[in-house]
Amino acid sequence: MQWLYCDFHIHTTWSDGEYSMDEVVDLYGETGFDVIAITDHVLDTQSIERAGRPISELSVMDSSQFGEYQEALWRAARRAWERYGMLLVPGVELTNNTTRYHILALDIKEYISPDLSVEQIIEAIRKQQGISVACHPYIRNHSGEDPSYHLWQNHERLASMFDAWEVANRDDLFNVVGLKKFNYIANSDFHEKRHLLSWKTLLRCEKNIESVKAAIRNNNQVSLFLYRGGKIRQ
Ligand code: ZN
Ligand code: ZN
Repeated sequence: MQWLYCDFHIHTTWSDGEYSMDEVVDLYGETGFDVIAITDHVLDTQSIERAGRPISELSVMDSSQFGEYQEALWRAARRAWERYGMLLVPGVELTNNTTRYHILALDIKEYISPDLSVEQIIEAIRKQQGISVACHPYIRNHSGEDPSYHLWQNHERLASMFDAWEVANRDDLFNVVGLKKFNYIANSDFHEKRHLLSWKTLLRCEKNIESVKAAIRNNNQVSLFLYRGGKIRQ
């Protein structure tokens, strides 16, 4: 069985990404990736209120757009498979900038509010047979931001509750998470083209959604890969 080239954290123009869903599919498909997840932001209510601007100006989604977003994801997934043989996993980044945690929910069908607690979110994802991923859990040392402070503060308690932790995000390698032997994956947190050159995940499994989810949960045939350009496959 071959290793699949994967990236499970990608933003599009549905939130604060530069590229549309189709442009993302073309970029990753032409490069030769096997599996991608599109994970646009939904933002917690308090952060929206604090911003004091309409949701349309914040480059995030709210619950009313989720159905339409899911439909766009399914259309993009069909196109990705037909054109490139690339599996597109529908996802969302539950973004809580009030308590400060970002959680990827992969392959969920119903909306989950980022206002919920971390435990409630993980439970809601599990009920939908989705995958929960703790995003960029340690300090992002290139920017000094710390958007997932809460997850790291509580990492001992939350360690095995998540299906996986982002052991690398874009250029950063969080060896503190790796050393704890948590389940891990590595993602680009793609917003613009240069972010393609970043840490990625390799999984050894069949190229279908259930096998990919099982491979993340089991986390034994998983590897990190620093992509530096060029075609992965001809
Ligand atoms: Zn994030
Ligand atoms: Zn992100």
